[in-house]
Amino acid sequence: MAPDISAAASPVEKTWQTHLILNDFYGELDLRQPRRDHMHELISTMLSHRTTHANEEKAYYRMRERYPTWPEVMATPLEDLTAALETAQYPGAKAINIQKALKIIQEKSPDFTLHFLKELPVEEAMTWLMHLPGVGFKTATLVLLFNFHQPVLPVDTHVFRVSQRVGIIGAKVTAQKAHTLLLEMLPREAPVLFNFHKHLYWHGQRICTWKLPNCEACPLQMFCNYFHEVREKGIG
Ligand code: SF4
Repeated sequence: MAPDISAAASPVEKTWQTHLILNDFYGELDLRQPRRDHMHELISTMLSHRTTHANEEKAYYRMRERYPTWPEVMATPLEDLTAALETAQYPGAKAINIQKALKIIQEKSPDFTLHFLKELPVEEAMTWLMHLPGVGFKTATLVLLFNFHQPVLPVDTHVFRVSQRVGIIGAKVTAQKAHTLLLEMLPREAPVLFNFHKHLYWHGQRICTWKLPNCEACPLQMFCNYFHEVREKGIG
């Protein structure tokens, strides 16, 4: 039975209903199997800035083919690494950041693993990851949630847009602030946060797209601010 909830519902109520409804719509996902190992997640996400997923993958796998170990990636001349990463945007800057980040990781963990992050309090693990060059809030939360099952929430452009349109967060909230606000409204449980992230990400890619949201196909329509304030009135 559809929940009885309107656009006037509180952000907390909307957040929880969004989670439940999208769980049904897309199916609940299992967090136990990460999509890629943690170093792959970290470096690939560093490559993903302003780059399509296909091109990010091409860059990552070409680099690993040419330089199969992390010490080889670190030791290769910058112009060669840049050439290997050419399908990503800004390959030169990304090559510099990757080499610098690997050096810092090696100093902390000579076998290039980040398992020590699991032992740190979440805030400390976030701070450590974000002191790596080229690693921002989104990358740090992705690695900590996907690979180490820490209760953080990656807020990318899709999660952000859907949350704003539905009316969970305000129009002027920044992505970093959105992370804090959304976390306050969700249980601090990694499986819930993982499903919330993935489902809003898919929803933003497939239905609530930036250019033209397909509200007719959307199961969040009944309580979505954007639908009631803009689409239903034929404004946009
Ligand atoms: S009703 Fe429309 S605007 Fe609202 S979340 Fe769904 S697709 Fe996006």
